[in-house]
Amino acid sequence: MAALDATGGHFSAEEVRAMASTSRVPISLATVYNTLKALVEMGELGEVRLARGATRFDTNSAPHGHLACRSCELLIDVDLGELGGVDFAAVGRSVAASHGFEAEGIDVVVRGRCDNCARRQ
Ligand SMILES: [Zn+2]
Ligand SMILES: [Zn+2]
Repeated sequence: MAALDATGGHFSAEEVRAMASTSRVPISLATVYNTLKALVEMGELGEVRLARGATRFDTNSAPHGHLACRSCELLIDVDLGELGGVDFAAVGRSVAASHGFEAEGIDVVVRGRCDNCARRQ
């Protein structure tokens, strides 16, 4: 997955399809998506779902948060410890439980603009 490192570790199914389409064998987006989903199920990839845009897959499957740039859609991995040392997974589970809600995952996303985009204005 070396080619995917160029995406900063976060990529959409469409980006993978575009990279794979340079080969002679055409690959459908559905095939790529299903393969990526299977890798997520196996714990090989993470998954980042933002309100806007396509699901992004993540070469970092360990628990971490993201800084999401709204201009260039860059995603930066952050150690959740850097976000105040709060155990977001535990907080999320306990809040969910108080609503009788079965938690399946917690995403910590800090929205804003990256350094590059902020400087361009
Ligand atoms: Zn940006
Ligand atoms: Zn990530």
